[in-house]
Parts: sequence; C-alpha cells; structure tokens
Amino acid sequence: MLIDRTHKRKDCAEKCSLWGRKEEGVSVTSILIDSVKLAEGVCTNQIQADIALKASNDMNVVIKMYMDGELESSNEFIDALPAQADKMADILKSEDNKCFEAHTGPKGDNPCKYGSLLFYHLRALLLYIDKHPERAFPNKRDTFRKTIYDKYNILIADNGYFNEKSLKALEKFYKQLPKHLHREGIQYDAPLFATQSVIDAWSCSDSKPTIGVSRRGFNVFHEQLGDASENGFPSDTPFPIAAADLLLVVTRHEVAHQFDRVIFNREDSRMQDMKVMLTEASQGNDQNWLRSNVGDIYFQKAKAEIIASQIGNQYLHSTTTQLRLAAHRLKNSGNGIPMSWFLFNVDLMTQPGKKKAPFYENESNGRVSKINVKIKRDSQGRIKKLKIPTCGKVTVTYNGAGLVETVSDNASSCMIPN
Ligand SMILES: [Zn+2]
Repeated sequence: MLIDRTHKRKDCAEKCSLWGRKEEGVSVTSILIDSVKLAEGVCTNQIQADIALKASNDMNVVIKMYMDGELESSNEFIDALPAQADKMADILKSEDNKCFEAHTGPKGDNPCKYGSLLFYHLRALLLYIDKHPERAFPNKRDTFRKTIYDKYNILIADNGYFNEKSLKALEKFYKQLPKHLHREGIQYDAPLFATQSVIDAWSCSDSKPTIGVSRRGFNVFHEQLGDASENGFPSDTPFPIAAADLLLVVTRHEVAHQFDRVIFNREDSRMQDMKVMLTEASQGNDQNWLRSNVGDIYFQKAKAEIIASQIGNQYLHSTTTQLRLAAHRLKNSGNGIPMSWFLFNVDLMTQPGKKKAPFYENESNGRVSKINVKIKRDSQGRIKKLKIPTCGKVTVTYNGAGLVETVSDNASSCMIPN
C-alpha cells in the first residue's frame, strides 16, 4: 500500500500529510520498518531529537491506519508485522532505568529528546497487535500502568510522569466505577482501549506533540496525588466536608465527561429526556444547580459540563454530601430541582435493571469507600426510595411536572461515617 501525501484523515487534518522524512510514494511498511529501526537507536543515543519526533508522527499515522483496519488489505504490511512486533518488544524490554532517565523529557537534563515519544508509539502499536499488555509493558516501573491497562483498558499516556502512589489511586478509582460506565462511556467505540493522558508531561518548548492513539481519551493536569486539593461543593452545603485530592478531582471530572454518551446512545431516551427537562427547569437560577458555584449561565452554555461537574466534582467525591445539599435546598427554600438532579445522578450511576446504586464516601488522599445503596422505583421507573446505611430510608415524592416535591427529613443530615 502506498502513502498518498494528500490523503487527509478526518481526525488529524494537517498532521496526516506529515511524512516528515519521507518522499511521496513510500509504503506504510517501510515507514514502520524505518521507525522501528530508528527506535533501536534511542537507548544508545543514536537518534536526534527532530528525527525521533518525525518518526513518532509517522508511527502515529501508522497506528491510526492500523486501528481503523485500513492496513488489513496490505499483504506487505501484514507479512512484515510479526517480525517488527518482535523488534518493538525487544526495544521496549531493553529500556532499562538508565535509558529511561536519559531520554525521557521534557523535564530534567534532557528536555525535548522525543525518544520516549517514539517508545510510546511502539507501545501503542504493540497493544493493538498483541491485544494484551505483556510485551508493551515489560519493565517493573510500568507495573501499575500495565495493571490499569489490563483491568480497565486504559492506556496511561503520562510519559512516565505518575509516581506509584498516583497510579495506585487511579487504579482504585477505575475499580470503583460501575462496569456499564466503563463499557458504554469510557470505552465506547474505542477499538481496544482509551487513553488518560497528561499532555503537559510531553510538551516541549511550548509545543505539544501528537499522542492520540485511540478514538477515546481524556487529559488531566500535570499533578501527582497529594500535590493539591479542591472542593466542588458550594458554601450552603450542610455539614461541609474536606476538599478532595486534585489529581482525582480532575480525573473524576474528565471521566464523568464520558458519561454523556452513555445516556445519549441508549435506545431508551428516559435519562436523556430527563437531562433536557432538568436543564430547562434550571434556567435562570444558580441555586437550581448542585454545583451552584459554577452556575446557571455557564451550564446553559456548556451543557457537556453538567454531568462532568455534578457527578465528577461532587457525586464521586461524596454522594451523601450531594444528597444533603439537595435535600437542604428543598427543605429550606422549597426548590426540588437540585434533588431531582441528585436522583438523575443516582440513576446514571446505577446499572440499568439493577437495584443497587454506588455511593462514594469519605475521600482521603484521593481514595473513597464505595457503598452500595438499595434503590426502589415507582411505576414510571423513577427512584422513590433509597436505603442508605446509617441514614435509613430516604423517600421522595414527585409533582406533576416530574420534579421532586418532597424528601424525608433524614436526607439533609445523612452521612455514612467510616
Ligand atoms: Zn469539563
């Protein structure tokens, strides 16, 4: 198969004609072979930074073509692949700590070398070829990245930045998310895996290299666990709680962005209809929003931020705190919209057809406890009762417009202690 320089892929516009060091008419197979050969020189310092960057960009296009099945009809490519995969595996295996430290930028003594960027692309292509992470993560320093990939199909694209504590906390977070949200949200339509990237760990001289190797992915700040904290709850929250770890706050928010497609893609439009109805009902008053500190003008303009904010920054931090806030607003000012949003969140977090909702509590160092809460629905499928450990039964009623009208008194003081 020949490369057409003018062939533009939808997802990468200009970058796709960037066969940097190649002339027109060069085959994809030789691009791959040359890039792998260049990667062999990373640990021996035989590759220049600009060449490593170009080889990485070339590999990025090869990966996307392979991911989309565009290379399946190329016998030349398919025949060459096993030997090239073996070479890639050997190269990644030979990346000892000395080599890793010598070429992994952008910080330290070796900024902008791009050797690690080329290795990242070898790793991604190897994942697509092997369909398992054994050869892609051969070294001990990637143990937790390998585990996260293996269990949750998420490639951590952090240029070796995250420390063990951060990676362990991320792994626990993914473990506590319901499977339907992994499947229909994070992984939806991803051929094999999604990526969690830290683009600032790759950027160099103010430029951010291309690292997208999946159709699904999200980016987080350049922060380790314990670096900073943030509280997503507004000042009228009863019995306020401590701020949450910022690495996890950002991860929860970005992951919750992936949940929009869960309700959007469902044949049953009940949840999507509810989101539209509640967004309209919330118009004009910040206090209708659980994340009222962000507010109505923002959410009306950026509807994709609603679930990310209210589930990512609050529900996944402390579910009962969100319940207390919602119930307090209803008791205090007769406003049932926040409580309706809370139940929308519970509904989205619950696997369809199941009677247990996950609650997340007692955040400490980025970690929460997950507690199962039994829910009961009415004949229209709306949640009418939650049986919350230590709080007892929380019951709600609805008005004619479908908004929550009443909630039992125990809701505004409900807490699940450690
Ligand atoms: Zn967002």
